Amino acid sequence: MWRIGIDLGGTKIEALALSPEGEEYGRRRVPTPRGDYEATLQAAAGLTSTLVAAVGRENVAGVGIGIPGSLSPRTRLVRNANSTWLNGRTLDRDLQAIIGLPLVVENDANCFALSEAADGAGEGCRTIFGVILGTGVGGGIVTNGKLLKGRNGIAGEWGHNPLPWPDEGEKIGAPCYCGKAGCIETFLSGPALERQYRARSGRSLDAISIAECAAEGDAVGEAALGVYARRLAKSLASVVNIVDPDVIVFGGGVSNIAPVVGEGTGRA
Ligand SMILES: [Zn+2]
Repeated sequence: MWRIGIDLGGTKIEALALSPEGEEYGRRRVPTPRGDYEATLQAAAGLTSTLVAAVGRENVAGVGIGIPGSLSPRTRLVRNANSTWLNGRTLDRDLQAIIGLPLVVENDANCFALSEAADGAGEGCRTIFGVILGTGVGGGIVTNGKLLKGRNGIAGEWGHNPLPWPDEGEKIGAPCYCGKAGCIETFLSGPALERQYRARSGRSLDAISIAECAAEGDAVGEAALGVYARRLAKSLASVVNIVDPDVIVFGGGVSNIAPVVGEGTGRA
């Protein structure tokens, strides 16, 4: 049977079908209708229906959807999503009503960590910490091939811990959508990097363009990436002290910036 996977991100929604042999088919991507829950449902359902039509509904076993945040095990409502228009919503039931196929919703960083552990950069490793550095910052832990979900379904969610070992200037952090201030996410998300660069240079560039400028010798870009890398290292050091993983695998748009995580290790 075929399976359909959807990555419902804060910037884009991407979908593909996996054949019974595990081969990828029909990858498509659309911008996320930010702030609009109904339009987000329709965008995800539209991508799914295109793939379902292509491979035949009777051949599809189900749909898996990775989201920022997760479903509360108690209420089944979305919470902790930096795509805040998903929070408090019955996303799995609403999508299932439109799509009409078996459907599972899981935290995107958990999906990423499990995928990398199965046949990616963490293959063969006993303990994997998967990190998402994108519109938000998330994490997932896999041990011995199994996802560690945790009692509340939040295992690995390091993005809303405070930045450890703050330097001067980091002690009073920016407000976070979660209600706290100075969360790791407010330092390490793509929008955070862009904000830091804008504050130093007065120029508005996306994270990839900042990296390109830095590679061409832009001193402000180099400095912003240097500060970013130091903050990332401090944030991960506190994870290592608890999880002690065999490997840390990076995903998400910002992880594709080589100076941030080292050459060749980033994956989108
Ligand atoms: Zn937060």
